[in-house]
Amino acid sequence: MKPSFYDLSYADLETIIKQNNLNQSVAALLFKWHYKNKQITPCTENISAQAYAFFQENFDFSLPEIEVVQESEQDQTVKFLFKLHDNHKVETVLIPFNQKYSICLSSQVGCAMGCSFCFTGEQGLKRHLTTHEVIGQFIQAWRWLAKNRPGEERILNIVFMGQGEPLHNFDAVKKACEIFLCHYGTSVGIQKITISTAGYIPGLKRWLEEIPKVNLALSLHSPFEAKRNQLIPINKKYPLDEVLTYINQIPLQKKQFITYEYLLLKDFNDSIEDAKKLGEMLVDKRAYINLIPFNPYPGASYQKPSLAKVEEFKAVLDGFKIPTLIRGKKGDDVLAACGQLNSDY
Ligand code: SAH
Ligand code: SF4
Repeated sequence: MKPSFYDLSYADLETIIKQNNLNQSVAALLFKWHYKNKQITPCTENISAQAYAFFQENFDFSLPEIEVVQESEQDQTVKFLFKLHDNHKVETVLIPFNQKYSICLSSQVGCAMGCSFCFTGEQGLKRHLTTHEVIGQFIQAWRWLAKNRPGEERILNIVFMGQGEPLHNFDAVKKACEIFLCHYGTSVGIQKITISTAGYIPGLKRWLEEIPKVNLALSLHSPFEAKRNQLIPINKKYPLDEVLTYINQIPLQKKQFITYEYLLLKDFNDSIEDAKKLGEMLVDKRAYINLIPFNPYPGASYQKPSLAKVEEFKAVLDGFKIPTLIRGKKGDDVLAACGQLNSDY
């Protein structure tokens, strides 16, 4: 099988062009064609016959195909099921906000982390996604919008909160970010990308050197090690205090925060004591808290707390003056909300 064009960063492309004595302007032309204009047909604009032939002969331009599209009846949320070349499936969600969309990307087929509250975790890890499979979710979702909701093809935010632990698939996710950021192509703003991790330390170690400026979200879920161990098994190997040591070293830009995601599970981590401990842990940090009421799925062993309980929890955090948002559950009629993604059917 030929290598995928969509696995190449701009720098990779420049190297290939140089090695093959092609005109240097081809890199920008190809990025513009495939990423800015999101064409999947071969580039014909201003490109020499020699460069055209070289890329057609040596690279594959196919992308994962959309197999199923589910549109929410409650809001504008869209969930896509993608079919990969080896018949594995992954899901991607477009979440509407202010006439624009955020896209929630998957980074793996399944996930190895086995969190006890997560539908995806139940699949185990089937395999990592390649860069082109990550990028492909974005391009195909954009193309779907252009065709089905013309004028609405504006995807401003990218969040790695779909299936998989993105830092466990570091190289492919890093390269996808480089491609998203490249100003010849999709030119996504650096602070419009957020990578969410369960606290995978090997990835956090590399973060500082390799991708320091995009946003990081930590799935915290409990400030207590023992409780966190029950929720996120890798906490035993990569304990929270160590995770926080790495996160504290990340230099933040003006107005940049670390997001701490806190899943609220009824009668497990939703008490006033939990909220106080969480507040004490984060009060001195540039923190933003996302409270996520548990999204139930068939066979789940947890329940979601009442709205009153969620608001009580938030009030404690407000007392610490930590910006806290209760995450809505957009698209839950199509099982598109966080943690409900499981394509193993
Ligand atoms: N693996 C990464 C990113 C994907 S999960 C991580 O764990 O951070 C994205 C978010 O959804 C995480 O905060 C995760 O804890 C949360 N999540 C998982 N299952 C959930 C569920 N059933 N209800 C609500 N949120 C859930
Ligand atoms: Fe993996 Fe994140 Fe689900 Fe945990 S919550 S199993 S890390 S996808």
